[in-house]
Amino acid sequence: MADADPDRPGLRGRGGQSGDRNIAAVDAFDDVLSANRRHADGFALGHLAAPPARNLAVVTCMDARIDPLAILGLEAGDAHVMRNAGARVTSDVLRSLVKSVNQLGVRRIVVMHHTDCGAAKIELSALRQAVTDATGNDPSDVEFHLIGDPDEALAEDLAAVRDHPYLPSGLPVIALRYDVATGVAEPLLDAVTA
Ligand code: ZN
Repeated sequence: MADADPDRPGLRGRGGQSGDRNIAAVDAFDDVLSANRRHADGFALGHLAAPPARNLAVVTCMDARIDPLAILGLEAGDAHVMRNAGARVTSDVLRSLVKSVNQLGVRRIVVMHHTDCGAAKIELSALRQAVTDATGNDPSDVEFHLIGDPDEALAEDLAAVRDHPYLPSGLPVIALRYDVATGVAEPLLDAVTA
């Protein structure tokens, strides 16, 4: 593992500076790091180009049940995937889409919400309270982009892509809702960028 490196505070403590609460934080990742060694053995995807081969971008939720590549029949190298809580088309997602489309050949965009989404089940006040209880800090400055009405939120997110001034006109956009119980991604709305 890495020696102490003042530029990488997360790994600094490995050498044993007591009092640093980051000491041996890396140990919490033994499972994923050892899995990566196995992944890298016989790795055969080093030839892939950065532009998505299927000219596709997918915006979806961070929900652990969602495997966007499997759900949409994609493989590594095929698509840009942007994920956040709720699959919301935030300013940061739009920032990424602007780059995808204008520099990396993306020509079609999927916005995929899903059933049983945490962003639609949590009350804003409860979320703020949980953060305050856990940290002592009030997160009322954070826009959590929670979902009230799921259909409205999906329409809003589709429209945010459709109407964005830095995406060229004529690109197809589709809004799906993935059912975590059945695996079906239902197309509910579609549009063409304005
Ligand atoms: Zn979700």
